Amino acid sequence: MNILLLGSGGREHALAWKMAQSPLCTQLFIAPGNAGTPQYGQNVNIAVSDFTSIKTFCLENGIDLVVPGPEDPLVNGIYDFFQQEEALRHIPVMGPSQYGAQLEGSKAFAKQFMCRHGIPTAAYREFTEDTFEEGVAYLAQHALPVVIKADGLAAGKGVVIATTTAEAQDAFRQMIRDAKFGDAGKKVVIEQFLSGIELSVFALTDGKSYVTLPAAKDYKRIGEGDTGLNTGGMGAVSPVPFADKTFMDKVDEQVIKPTINGLFKENIAYHGFVFFGLIKVGGEPYVIEYNCRMGDPETEVVMPRLQNDLVELFLAVTTGTLSQQQVLADPRAAATVMLVAGGYPEAYEKGKVITGIPASTANQLVLHAGTTLAGSQVMTNGGRVLTVTSLAVDLATALAHSKATAAQIQFEGKYFRKDIGFEFV
Ligand code: ATP
Repeated sequence: MNILLLGSGGREHALAWKMAQSPLCTQLFIAPGNAGTPQYGQNVNIAVSDFTSIKTFCLENGIDLVVPGPEDPLVNGIYDFFQQEEALRHIPVMGPSQYGAQLEGSKAFAKQFMCRHGIPTAAYREFTEDTFEEGVAYLAQHALPVVIKADGLAAGKGVVIATTTAEAQDAFRQMIRDAKFGDAGKKVVIEQFLSGIELSVFALTDGKSYVTLPAAKDYKRIGEGDTGLNTGGMGAVSPVPFADKTFMDKVDEQVIKPTINGLFKENIAYHGFVFFGLIKVGGEPYVIEYNCRMGDPETEVVMPRLQNDLVELFLAVTTGTLSQQQVLADPRAAATVMLVAGGYPEAYEKGKVITGIPASTANQLVLHAGTTLAGSQVMTNGGRVLTVTSLAVDLATALAHSKATAAQIQFEGKYFRKDIGFEFV
């Protein structure tokens, strides 16, 4: 099979690494890719949402499967684009239709879906400009803290956890009246604050059946001890020690099964990854959010533990035979540490020379994220630059190995968290 993978982050480098191992993968192309992805395929200079160029490329290169890494092409309707074009209809796209991608693209859509299917989630109400005054009054009597969310995609910045009513009303006003997040904040979800511990669970579905991949926990804050600004993710661990069998059985029964059945019953075309952002509250799972693709950096920690042939799983998705597949997970622990540019997640510089990148081994994967090549020199090209994932008998050892390698890699301004997985070691 000739496969086109869309994206340029650590997630895509991890997916490329995994797919390239499959005997089913004849040629792998990555659009646009990064300085690391040519290890496993061929980079193609096309943007992830440039559907016209993607179409031409697919037809000229006999592409048999398209795997979108990030949400943008899915939320922008790449699945529907391929369905609508006669010449492309035979090429499966791993992901939902544009309508289904609203599970990620619209928080109100996701909440309504969860309510229709009895999936546990925080109590909520949604408001728009027309119901602005009602929203202000609702917040005046709401328990604190309270969560205010812009409905649309806001790069992880559209969520405010307010500890006073004034702060809550201010955030609400900024979203609806001051268009702080543009159209994404025209609708606002106000929801109950849940206190618990978060984790990420992933399913792959063919629209009817599903398999569950190893769970992971990511670390979003820039500072040690989960402090400071939110980032795209500073590291991850898998397995998640508190996600024991009892809890995961509840996740399966109360969250994954009703979600996949709900998609099927509502006739929502969905063939690909479902990411469940969960919170464990007093032993019970609640859904914080859905994403319609894998997480980053969770992919970097999940793929090394997945013992299945990923392309075979994708093929089962496209042929509707996923019920015949069983996921096999490496029993070892995996820990990912993200190396970021100085200043990130605020302003940071690009174009720094990177040295000391070791080759990946059977127990350690060094994956690129924001990197580019200047001749043969690898340079920084983003806020999140490189990831190191190690596999070991226990989490503490895996973390120690990832940190040791992260310390060896050099570029000006380099920073990484040294306490990933701190609650568990
Ligand atoms: P992401 O960057 O993960 O895509 P997002 O913008 O899609 O974020 P959410 O995932 O809904 O938004 O919320 C972001 C974070 O805010 C969550 O990971 C969680 O830590 C916190 N959060 C959201 N909703 C709640 C809630 N109801 N109770 C407690 N914390 C919450």
